Amino acid sequence: MISVHEALEKLFALAKVTPVEKIELRKCLGRVLAAPLRATRNNPPFPSSAMDGYAINKKDLKFGKEFKVIGESAAGHSYNVPIDQNEAVRIFTGSRIPDGANFVIIQEDVEALGESIRVKEQFDKKSHIRMEGSDFSIGHTVMAPLILRAKDISLIAAMNFSHISVRKKPKVAIISTGDELVFPGETPKSDQIIASNAFGIAALCEDCGADARILPIAQDNLKSIEYILGLAQGADVIITIGGASVGKYDLINAATNNVGIDKSFYKVAMRPGKPLMAGKINSTPIIGLPGNPVSALVCGYVFIKPLMHAMLGLERKSTPRLKAPCSTPILENGPREHYMRAVLLSNGCLKPAENQDSARLALLSDSNALLIRPPYAKAIPADTLCEYIKI
Ligand code: AMP
Ligand code: MG
Repeated sequence: MISVHEALEKLFALAKVTPVEKIELRKCLGRVLAAPLRATRNNPPFPSSAMDGYAINKKDLKFGKEFKVIGESAAGHSYNVPIDQNEAVRIFTGSRIPDGANFVIIQEDVEALGESIRVKEQFDKKSHIRMEGSDFSIGHTVMAPLILRAKDISLIAAMNFSHISVRKKPKVAIISTGDELVFPGETPKSDQIIASNAFGIAALCEDCGADARILPIAQDNLKSIEYILGLAQGADVIITIGGASVGKYDLINAATNNVGIDKSFYKVAMRPGKPLMAGKINSTPIIGLPGNPVSALVCGYVFIKPLMHAMLGLERKSTPRLKAPCSTPILENGPREHYMRAVLLSNGCLKPAENQDSARLALLSDSNALLIRPPYAKAIPADTLCEYIKI
């Protein structure tokens, strides 16, 4: 049995970063930027007004001064003649500041007198001009790798990129194993259950930016498992679920041996999730998850998520651990790292669920955190600071 940390390092050693592809900007939400993007323009590309008002020269701006309004500068329709000190140009937010002007007096601060304006007694002394390049200027760089979110996409669009280079989505093939399993929507026999794990794991992979394919359910015999493993060809990573322990019908070890697995590890000192297995079949990484629904998902958060990120060229690191006080005492822990289903309360404290059965999906769904108890941790009183990961 190896530690969670060692298992993750071994998984990273199996991970290959996916190639780069160029895609339309509209399709890049959640994708990972593969190469830095450097601005070739300034934004704004000209000095522009931050308010609706009048562009003037502030040289002898004072209460009562009158300016002759000689034209208008609207967004997309500049006023292109230089103005002198007694002249003003009606201006709107985002419009170009005319040459000769260096100040925008906001419309509330003047009296409009037909052809001219007069400055009121109280007026805002800020210039309300956005200088050329004050947002970003030529050379400004969006660094890679980066998971692209709405805010990044706005910036990249403003930099005038229509297509960008991203990492290809890792192709994940997911195999459920078990004679007792049917897919959601089918009619299970009285001794059957739904292959729910495949759907949770597929969703978790896709949430990380992968492309997941759920293969047909493998029956509990070597022939069936080996056949379905063959269907996974072309995947960047294979994930099997169930059949990972040492029972009579736990055949993942034997089936993967038969198809020539180069095993990296089997069994991790964690709870739930001990019978985790990983290796390579013909250079394709394969991970064998335990079948218990909570165990599979916990291994997903702890191992699959960082693995997906590694394959997308992101930093190779474990799922971030945060700290919060635990609202209840907890007993001492055994030799395996324990991931306890918990709720992070609105007061900032973690409340572990009373029942930690690794088959209880509804309880996992009600949780929003996994409180981590290190191997051999001593019993703790309420309010002790504990590590957790968000789920
Ligand atoms: P196993 O490791 O195959 O013995 O599975 C352990 C437990 O998880 C058993 O109760 C299985 O019925 C259940 N199980 C296995 N695979 C799945 C799956 N894909 N979805 C939901 N439950 C599963
Ligand atoms: Mg099974």
